[in-house]
Amino acid sequence: MKALSRKRVLVTGGAGFLGSHLCDRLVEAGHDVIYADNFFTGSKQNEAHLLDKPNFELMRHDVTFPLYVEVDEIYNLACPASPVHYQHDPVQTTKTSVHGAINMLGLAKRLRARILQASTSEVYGDPEVHPQPESYWGKVNPIGIRSCYDEGKRCAETLFFDYHRQHHLEIKVMRIFNTYGPRMHPNDGRVVSNFIVQALRGEDITIYGDGGQTRSFCFVDDLINGMLKLMASDADFTGPVNIGNPGESSMLELAELVLKLTNSRSKLKHLPLPQDDPKQRRPDITLAKNKLDWAPHVALEAGLRKTIDYFKTVVTQH
Ligand code: NAD
Ligand code: UDP
Ligand code: UDP
Repeated sequence: MKALSRKRVLVTGGAGFLGSHLCDRLVEAGHDVIYADNFFTGSKQNEAHLLDKPNFELMRHDVTFPLYVEVDEIYNLACPASPVHYQHDPVQTTKTSVHGAINMLGLAKRLRARILQASTSEVYGDPEVHPQPESYWGKVNPIGIRSCYDEGKRCAETLFFDYHRQHHLEIKVMRIFNTYGPRMHPNDGRVVSNFIVQALRGEDITIYGDGGQTRSFCFVDDLINGMLKLMASDADFTGPVNIGNPGESSMLELAELVLKLTNSRSKLKHLPLPQDDPKQRRPDITLAKNKLDWAPHVALEAGLRKTIDYFKTVVTQH
């Protein structure tokens, strides 16, 4: 890395699943990386291999409190992402998204730093438009059990655009669709980790509802490529931009694929569908292709194989 392009970069939520992969890439590229995390869902273990690097620094910090550091770029990823975790303390989830965004935007404003927000496909709620383009405003329940996350993330997007309009900040808003890969937390309750862990342990595969609901799964390496490209994009490109894999699978199809790839004899078990669970989700990635020259390359089966190999190293199998 040339000295001139070396940047001081802050990653909030750096100890989490996506944050740890992002830190790997930034450290590898020679940037000075600081991560701020309160370790609610993240783990120092995700970063253990970086701790002896001179260009990497770990900071225990909760983004709902002000933060004074000197950096050139900010990636704001801090927020629990799995429904089980974000519903555990819903008030804190909204605070993390909203107060966290205000603090990080205030920091970016003081430093005139470029700032990227990890937003989500959840801003579309239970969508009536399929696939979802960025121009769709969504169908979101403001008072349900998912609202702390969905509305918190929507309010964060509002704050990003108001700081952009009012204070001329360089913002990048990324709407992330379901992403999976190594370092997902084995107990975080998301569908890919649940199915793989259950299959490896020979436990029943828990299908919520009839399993006909769909999601589009993006492998983490593709996702991080999109995030880095968005941060490096022209100053006038704010997003929001969808980053995800347009391949769409029902939860039953996903379960069958995981069973095949793990050679598992686990049985399917149906449990009630959680409230407000979106019925279908698939990104329209036309904008990302045109503006960022980005598209995902890792097929679901190949990505699942890598993820299964990872979980074999962390899950005790019966
Ligand atoms: P994760 O739960 O693995 O990581 C989130 C990190 O944020 C954790 O390390 C956690 O300890 C930290 N954190 C939570 N509250 C905090 C606070 N108040 N202060 C400081 N740190 C805090 O989740 P992830 O999958 O890595 O998601 C990262 C970001 O991407 C989140 O903002 C999430 O909403 C967004 N996102 C992820 C997905 C996905 O499929 N993984 C999809 C859409 C959006
Ligand atoms: N802030 C921060 N670090 C900074 C500058 C600001 O954490 O370096 C926080 C601070 O808590 C502030 C918030 O960001 O309340 C919003 O900052 P802004 O300048 O937009 O508003 P104000 O200071 O007027 O509240
Ligand atoms: N799901 C499931 N079994 C599980 C975990 C999740 O059938 O053990 C379903 C869940 O109801 C949802 C989909 O899988 O329809 C994706 O769930 P996840 O929590 O991974 O993400 P999100 O709902 O936020 O997209």
